[in-house]
Amino acid sequence: MTKPVKEARPERVTKERVAAMEKVAVKSILKDIPAQYIEAQRNRNSIKSCCQDIENLTYQTFKTDGELEKPDFAVMECVCGSKHYRAANGNGKL
Ligand SMILES: [Zn+2]
Repeated sequence: MTKPVKEARPERVTKERVAAMEKVAVKSILKDIPAQYIEAQRNRNSIKSCCQDIENLTYQTFKTDGELEKPDFAVMECVCGSKHYRAANGNGKL
């Protein structure tokens, strides 16, 4: 009886997200962040008020797959520890 050939793990499991930039204060790169991210964050009533304050947030973009050319999602993290995920916009900026 032969042992079944060990199959490679599916690609999605082997890939790790990769930071595409250093984590920075949102206010320091305000003009570079898509305006709709900022607006959505400020106007979202379902999140804590500290998280709506741009002063409290850092911004970092990631690639879900290191082979991607451009980052495909961004994380805004509040001083309270809450993380807010955004899909990156299509033009590849940031
Ligand atoms: Zn917060």
